[in-house]
Amino acid sequence: MSDLNFFGHIIDGEEVPSVDGARFEVWNPWTQEVWAEAAEGGPDDAALAVASSRRAFDEGPWPRMARAERAAAIHRLADLMDERADDLATLDTTNMAKPFAQAQHDVARSIWNFRFFADHQRDHCGEVYPMDSGHHSYSEYGPAGVVAAISPWNFPLMMATWKIAPAIAWGNTCIIKPSEDTPASVTLLGRLATEAGFPPGVLNVLNGHGSPAGASLTADDRVDRVTFTGSSTTGKTVMASASSHLAPVSLELGGKGANIVFEDADLDNAVHWAVEAIFRNSGQICLAGSRLFVASAVYDEFMDRFVAAAEALTIGDPFDPKTRFSSLASKKHFEKVASYVEGVGLEGGKILTGGVDTEGRWLVRPTIVTDLPLTASAYCDEIFGPVCVVNRFESEDEVVSLANDTRYGLNAMLFTENLSRAHRVASRLRAGTVWVNCFFIRDLRTPFGGVGDSGVGREGGNFSREFFTEPKAIVMQI
Ligand code: NAD
Repeated sequence: MSDLNFFGHIIDGEEVPSVDGARFEVWNPWTQEVWAEAAEGGPDDAALAVASSRRAFDEGPWPRMARAERAAAIHRLADLMDERADDLATLDTTNMAKPFAQAQHDVARSIWNFRFFADHQRDHCGEVYPMDSGHHSYSEYGPAGVVAAISPWNFPLMMATWKIAPAIAWGNTCIIKPSEDTPASVTLLGRLATEAGFPPGVLNVLNGHGSPAGASLTADDRVDRVTFTGSSTTGKTVMASASSHLAPVSLELGGKGANIVFEDADLDNAVHWAVEAIFRNSGQICLAGSRLFVASAVYDEFMDRFVAAAEALTIGDPFDPKTRFSSLASKKHFEKVASYVEGVGLEGGKILTGGVDTEGRWLVRPTIVTDLPLTASAYCDEIFGPVCVVNRFESEDEVVSLANDTRYGLNAMLFTENLSRAHRVASRLRAGTVWVNCFFIRDLRTPFGGVGDSGVGREGGNFSREFFTEPKAIVMQI
């Protein structure tokens, strides 16, 4: 196996194997082949990574650097990412079968994460409170310390950079642990940080599985912040672990997004976004519109168009420019999604189109399901695959209550040409983000996060500043 690519840890600016030499296989889910290996991080590797980031924070220049200088360093990294954009996209596509054009889009957004937070911290201002007593209070936002960031496999580079960028921009040092399913692009990012001249330990990459690699980070009392994106179940474990040393957590977790199409919607637009919302990235999106509610008055017309659009998606090799939809990210995940699809009939549902691939690929075709009881597992659970469960509704009150009847609350979409209804319903939906007549558009200044099982806290703009700094009040007698 000596000719395989190898993705090591990046610690103190050097790419290193695990202390005990352990490695794991990295798969290409489209070809169903092992194409690389990565270092299997254990407690000793995690301890080294934390010690390095601790040193870089306590003794290194990064937290004390002029804001403009730090911003310039981060822009240098973004420039290098720009130069290597297609390599980064190739790694994500190879690693998880994301269609290449979608991977290129994710890389562009990843670069923007760095540029945005570099400028955001450089240009920020605190608050000043002139007091009636004659005192003068003001706020200061200093870095929090060492950040442990743990990311999932569905947007390997984008989710990682969404955490790393604000963490380091605000003067922290950071250890990122990417998912064991997709170590490649984040390791290349770590190599680029070294090339960009980042001081050692500012950005360390720890490869390996959730336990022990991730768990060793969250339990380490030298870590000051834990930011995690992943499943709700793991999120609870991460929160419990971080609580042992009172490290604040930011948790971006699962979802079961409601997508509502009112009778006055622009149906062309609603069909376009309904397809994007559940079939982009093969449905492996926390924000997926996996529960679709369609007004009875337009149900038949909408469904005819929606099914036709789903069936028109070109399925195939993720590197083929014509491909819009490809296999799932791993065999394990394929088996999970397939088991939900195979259970639909048993739970009383009807598959209008799609189903599990019959040619041995780890692929579930764009699947649209109706007639499922509201208690069915495929309706209630996050499947995290290309499975859309559709219901019809009669009234605004009814659909708001259906949409909110979930333990998740990450996001919702609604389609209507009635402005008052758009505002009214958006306000009533229990979700961290509501998209009106669109999907997946983000302004990085706005809060991002979820309600209930979808998460704890918000990131984005000043919300990231709150989390990644220790805000301080300074009170002066004049
Ligand atoms: P996961 O919870 O299995 O793993 C996420 C990360 O946590 C991985 O890096 C994993 O190695 C690590 N991990 C696992 N156990 C751990 C432990 N005990 N301690 C520390 N780290 C541990 O999730 P996944 O399957 O990689 O990702 C899919 C999930 O992520 C879905 O539920 C999806 O909705 C969610 N997600 C949420 C958002 C969001 O912004 N809310 C974005 C993307 C994905």
